[in-house]
Amino acid sequence: FGGVSREPPMNIVHISVEMAPIAKVGGLGDVVTSLSRAVQDMGHNVDVILPKYDCMNLSNVKEFKFHQSYFWSGTEIKVWFGKVEGLSVYFLEPQNGMFWAGCIYGCRNDGERFGFFCHAALEFLLRSGAHPDILHCHDWSSAPIAWLFKDHYRLHGLSKARVVFTIHNLEFGAHQIGKAMAYTDKATTVSSTYSKEVSGNPVIAPHLYKFHGIVNGIDPDIWDPYNDKFIPLSYTSDNVVEGKRTAKEALQQRLGLQKSDLPLVGIITRLTVQKGIHLIKHAIWRTLERNGQVVLLGSAPDPRIQNEFVNLANQLHSSHGDRARLCLTYDEPLSHLIYAGADFILVPSIFEPCGLTQLIAMRYGSIPVVRKTGGLYDTVFDVDHDKDRAQAQGLEPNGFNFDGADTAGVDYALNRAITAWYDGRDWFNSLCKQVMEQDWSWNRPALDYMELYYAARKLGQ
Ligand code: ADP
Repeated sequence: FGGVSREPPMNIVHISVEMAPIAKVGGLGDVVTSLSRAVQDMGHNVDVILPKYDCMNLSNVKEFKFHQSYFWSGTEIKVWFGKVEGLSVYFLEPQNGMFWAGCIYGCRNDGERFGFFCHAALEFLLRSGAHPDILHCHDWSSAPIAWLFKDHYRLHGLSKARVVFTIHNLEFGAHQIGKAMAYTDKATTVSSTYSKEVSGNPVIAPHLYKFHGIVNGIDPDIWDPYNDKFIPLSYTSDNVVEGKRTAKEALQQRLGLQKSDLPLVGIITRLTVQKGIHLIKHAIWRTLERNGQVVLLGSAPDPRIQNEFVNLANQLHSSHGDRARLCLTYDEPLSHLIYAGADFILVPSIFEPCGLTQLIAMRYGSIPVVRKTGGLYDTVFDVDHDKDRAQAQGLEPNGFNFDGADTAGVDYALNRAITAWYDGRDWFNSLCKQVMEQDWSWNRPALDYMELYYAARKLGQ
């Protein structure tokens, strides 16, 4: 990367419909914030353009103020400015009420809303005389940036910009993604294995020459067991055993679980088919059978799935109330306590572009138990089977994994994990310490993004 450091700072603008912690639904929101912070820390200028949702928690926005307004497409668009996690964010608020819907996603006209947002964002950049080097857009929701820019804006003042498009999940909006893939200068997805898994997809296949897999990182300041107001005792790898024991007791206390030293399996997820619902249910029963405790924090956008889990929760809370708790909601503070208090974090996804929960788990010294797919395959190395594969990455094995999408697979990994916990606490504790010391931050991936940005800038139009 020697060439990279000699180059002058770049101006990078993310256009996104999610941003943690103020407008986060899933990993996309985390990535926009944490990648931007890492790139900004390397000395580059990063701005984020976000819709101003009525449902946003503005208490996490510093220096919030009115910036300007402009008329476009028959409405006034107010632009607000504020700092989020140290990043400059411009919030677009069309006065036609497009983002006064009480939610981020879930309106009948999401495509229209986000298309309007993308167009308004380019209009804002043009009118404010900005000279971005990179316009970085994400998933189907800001994919329109790629073709709107190429069709309408590159000849009008934004000519030096290049477009980078990141696919966080190919499952949604394939049509928009295909269109963005055709127009973007560079495209990425969020792990190397996922990039291979989707390479045959007709919306990707024609564009492989500009398509790269770069694994996500996590922000070590946002996820930091040494500095986390949601856990009872600060810890590092030096006092991981004490730190996690205290967190486990606090978690048991808070959720009304029996306060005893049992292996505790945590699951933190959107409850969708992608996340392996049948495997999650099976793993809950298997853990209870092995005399472990289970805490699930999950919310289901599909009311049918939410209902299924409400029923399961009622059943479990009456049959195993001292050892199982299902919290069927979205709760960021509780997620921190679970990452810290669990021994294992289970991620049995059917497919997983990158996955952040296994990375956050490791930062808190919890051992990931995962299905071998996408980014889970690239970041979790089985203690029994993946020593060589880990060492090729300069790492020691850090978890348990399984193949297949049936219950025998999840049993195979979970049984070995729980047995290891019961049979060798010293070994298990040293594994916790070791995973905490692995670097899953943006240090490496942000350099890969910078290299990609520079390569995009060198391209002709
Ligand atoms: P996806 O983007 O597919 O949802 P990721 O693993 O990439 O999956 O990101 C999930 C992020 O959302 C993590 O930061 C995780 O902690 C968080 N998360 C998921 N479900 C919940 C929940 N119910 N409550 C709090 N945080 C959650």
